[in-house]
Amino acid sequence: MKQEHDSFDAVVIGAGIVGAACADVLAGNGLHVAIVEEKCIGAGATGAGMGHIVVMDDSPAQLALTRYSQLLWEQLKSELPDSVEYEETGTIWIAADEEEMEEVFRKRDVYATCGIQSKVLGRTALLVKEPELRTSLAGGLLVASDSILYPPTAAKFLVDRACAAGAVLLHG
Ligand SMILES: Cc1cc2nc3c(=O)[nH]c(=O)nc-3n(C[C@H](O)[C@H](O)[C@H](O)COP(=O)(O)OP(=O)(O)OC[C@H]3O[C@@H](n4cnc5c(N)ncnc54)[C@H](O)[C@@H]3O)c2cc1C
Repeated sequence: MKQEHDSFDAVVIGAGIVGAACADVLAGNGLHVAIVEEKCIGAGATGAGMGHIVVMDDSPAQLALTRYSQLLWEQLKSELPDSVEYEETGTIWIAADEEEMEEVFRKRDVYATCGIQSKVLGRTALLVKEPELRTSLAGGLLVASDSILYPPTAAKFLVDRACAAGAVLLHG
């Protein structure tokens, strides 16, 4: 047993969603990986996160990275166990007034440049989708390709897959 833990190609500190994803890729590429977690999988921010897999466009880099991440999750979805609760719920960006509707149209056009289809909703269409919203909102943008999952079990799935490829999870 001691011998197995003597040397590793890579040591990942923390089994949150980021460490789990790194360990999964490293182990999948044949490296001997140790994952060191002081508490339990998803004990940090991963356990508090909402799990919204959403494309965001505050900068071109963020747009490219969040879209890339979303495509990776889409590729993985057929392998995810039910416990991960992956669901393509979509996102509705809500506009309170006509000024914010301008932002809805801008966002739609930006998303279209990277192949993301979205749909502008007027006031009535928004309330049909979300009847509990207040009636004075101007509308919104429906981005159907966004999704949601349960981050701690998603991290566990990635850690389990890393371990199946030879990684070792060390607690403490
Ligand atoms: C309220 C909230 C909502 C969020 N909603 C979303 C969302 O909808 N979509 C989204 O993409 N992101 C969301 N986020 C952000 C997301 O949760 C984080 O970016 C992500 O979980 C960070 O993962 P991580 O693996 O880097 O860190 P963490 O999940 O914090 O993992 C770090 C791990 O390292 C361990 N650790 C720390 N120090 C040591 C040590 N010395 N030795 C061993 N182990 C150690 C900790 O126990 C922990 O398990 C949200 C965050 C919050 C707080």
